[in-house]
Amino acid sequence: MPLFNKEEGCENRTHSLLIQHFIPLDKLIQESKIENEIRGVLDECIRLRRELHRHPELSLHEERTARTISLFLSEHGLKTKSYDFPSVVCDTAPHPVVALRADMDALPVEEASGEEFSSENKGVMHACGHDAHSAMLVCTGVVLHRLGVPVRLIFQPAEELGRGAKMMIEAGALDGIHYIFGLHVWPSIDVGSIAVLNGPAMAAHDEFHITFKGPGGHGAYPHLTRDTVLAASNFILSSQGIVSRVVDPLESAVLSYGRIEGGHASNVIPSKLLLEGTVRTFTPEVRAQIRRSIEQLLGSVCLFYGTEGNIQWEEGGPAVINDSEFAEQCRKVLNGKIKVVDYRPTMGSEDFAYYLQKVRGAFAFLGTGSDSSTRASKHSSIFRLDERSLYYGIMSEVLVASFAGGLDGDKGNKQA
Ligand SMILES: [Zn+2]
Ligand SMILES: [Zn+2]
Repeated sequence: MPLFNKEEGCENRTHSLLIQHFIPLDKLIQESKIENEIRGVLDECIRLRRELHRHPELSLHEERTARTISLFLSEHGLKTKSYDFPSVVCDTAPHPVVALRADMDALPVEEASGEEFSSENKGVMHACGHDAHSAMLVCTGVVLHRLGVPVRLIFQPAEELGRGAKMMIEAGALDGIHYIFGLHVWPSIDVGSIAVLNGPAMAAHDEFHITFKGPGGHGAYPHLTRDTVLAASNFILSSQGIVSRVVDPLESAVLSYGRIEGGHASNVIPSKLLLEGTVRTFTPEVRAQIRRSIEQLLGSVCLFYGTEGNIQWEEGGPAVINDSEFAEQCRKVLNGKIKVVDYRPTMGSEDFAYYLQKVRGAFAFLGTGSDSSTRASKHSSIFRLDERSLYYGIMSEVLVASFAGGLDGDKGNKQA
């Protein structure tokens, strides 16, 4: 059975970019060979994933993880390199135009999953599944190397800080690359399933820090003070009107506050109050609109209450926007080997977005949930995944990388 249906593809002229340049996969690689190769590395993949899980490292400290990955790849005859920060880059064969990406960092979370291979690094946990991403990509690399398919494997640090992808791109990890694919473990999707969305998949995120200041004083005499608590409270409530009244109802946006800090006593109006929040959006227009409105609102609230208000923005990554044609081809290639399911975009964010600003590609959600013990959300201390998902993750990466390698690379580079 061909992996890629030429007849069906050629009928659809709107997808001519990807259709005209493919090399039918059934002529390149036999499906059974792929499956055998994957089954051959599966036990090693599980062992590697558990080894990484036992030794999680925080963002920009992934030295041990990078060494473990490099060692594993070189033991299987692959050459690796790294930059001057924790990272691994490896070409499975010369001149790849397709890259696959995994992230390596863990989170400052105390593990309570009960796994027998739980973290041995107190207060640090692979609670976002990056151990699985790395282990799957290592094994995908071994399989593609054996099959002679050229692909660049990118193992980046610091996804949780939203910085690693940028660092890899600036260091040259995408040089010569025209297409990229990545995946994230997804507990709310069933194991054996995958979602590859068209267009927007994950949101852009920004954070802001506001300091309200004013002459505080006795709670019994508020008229002699400038009340930072009331100003902040009013600001918090009114700002929800930005999402509900300023932004087009057909657009998506979220504005949430995660930290509010001020005061020491019940009867003292504090002279300083800190407020921190996050904004999630999908388009640059809405992103800019919300930022403008927050600043305007802060100005008016402070004017009314006579407080001072300073805001500092921490610009996060852009939205993850999948290339719709590429995503559609991914779904076609994967269909039959893994259950391809529909899923909605999520307000979470991912620094994979930076790669997609440079080259065409897609970021997929890999199902890892099967029962109540594997449904806890990412970043939770009880996060666990059904390890049967590793097989499907490797299969997805191998199939997508193989088909994308047959595309006309020059069409993929957004800078071209
Ligand atoms: Zn995460
Ligand atoms: Zn993650």
